[in-house]
Amino acid sequence: MRRGEVEGLEDMEGKAEKLVIIGSGPAGLTAAIYGCRADLDPLVFMGSRYGGQLMLTSEVENFPGFPDPVLGPDLIARMKSQAERLGARLVQEDVERVNFRTYPFEVYTSSGVTKALAVILAMGANPRRLNLPSEMHLMGKGVSNCAVCDGFFFRGKKVAVVGGGDTAMEEANFLAKFASQVQVIHRRDELRASASLRDEAFANPKISFIWDSVVTGVIGDTKVHGVKIKNLKTGKESELPLDGLFVAIGYDPNTEMLREQVELDPKGYVVTRNRTESSTPGVFVAGDVHDFRYRQAITAAADGCKALLDAEKFIKQKLELKVTS
Ligand code: NAP
Repeated sequence: MRRGEVEGLEDMEGKAEKLVIIGSGPAGLTAAIYGCRADLDPLVFMGSRYGGQLMLTSEVENFPGFPDPVLGPDLIARMKSQAERLGARLVQEDVERVNFRTYPFEVYTSSGVTKALAVILAMGANPRRLNLPSEMHLMGKGVSNCAVCDGFFFRGKKVAVVGGGDTAMEEANFLAKFASQVQVIHRRDELRASASLRDEAFANPKISFIWDSVVTGVIGDTKVHGVKIKNLKTGKESELPLDGLFVAIGYDPNTEMLREQVELDPKGYVVTRNRTESSTPGVFVAGDVHDFRYRQAITAAADGCKALLDAEKFIKQKLELKVTS
């Protein structure tokens, strides 16, 4: 029997891990840290590009315990080595598919199938991109997807927000606290955002709107100096001098492989009940894979802790059932 495995339960074939965690952002790594301390010997499938959104973040100033700014990748490296020191097994492999219709659950990677008594889903969400090479080049150097994370760096500066939904309005309203000017660039002449967020933005004298327009390029080499925009109605192209660009055009949760396995909402986020449970008992959820509201490293970490505490109870019950049967 390999480390972490327990005998299959009574009527089940083969050996199973007590706990498999899918994902290695703050949610997955916090679940791993707590999982080690709960003696669950977690196996973590980190993904081939591990670490999640923090790997694309420069300075993090709002994670408690770091009086000086910490780089996003450094924060992940610290969480990872903390989990490793406590004994978590971290595997840099992508999960290709899961089967939650059988028990123990099955998790498939390129190296085979792993059975598990409980699974924590912590594979996050990806912010949608404009898909411009200059956007990726300047990501973390003036281009951002998170005003709460990076807004502070734009005190007294000019920024733009792309998008017309709730996130874009929240970002614009938040940025207006720091920036001297916030211009919202939206591809239509009508916002999708809810009335309250929209009205708050309309009422803010620092926020103005550039309608019917898309960003066609970000100007700058080592930092953002402006954007190129195109009016979709007139075809007119122009340049807008700026210090920062916040892309807020939505998120895509990494849940494609979960279709038919757990309940997803119409936008693909995992539906939770009783805080961290998915629709499949024994499959728990943490971080941006279900949370489209807060999306912070600290809230994802807290979620990882909660999911683990709930998973621990579930696993304990399963093991007690086995002992008494
Ligand atoms: P969203 O509602 O999907 O809005 C995305 C916005 O970006 C839309 O205005 C869309 O334009 C625009 N867009 C999409 N792709 C684009 C592209 N390639 N180029 C330019 N613009 C593009 O996403 P969201 O604002 O992140 O919200 C996601 C969900 O979370 C929603 O259900 C929202 O209500 C919820 N949410 C709620 C709160 C809150 O209640 N406080 C806060 C944040 C999010 P079009 O309008 O033309 O499609």
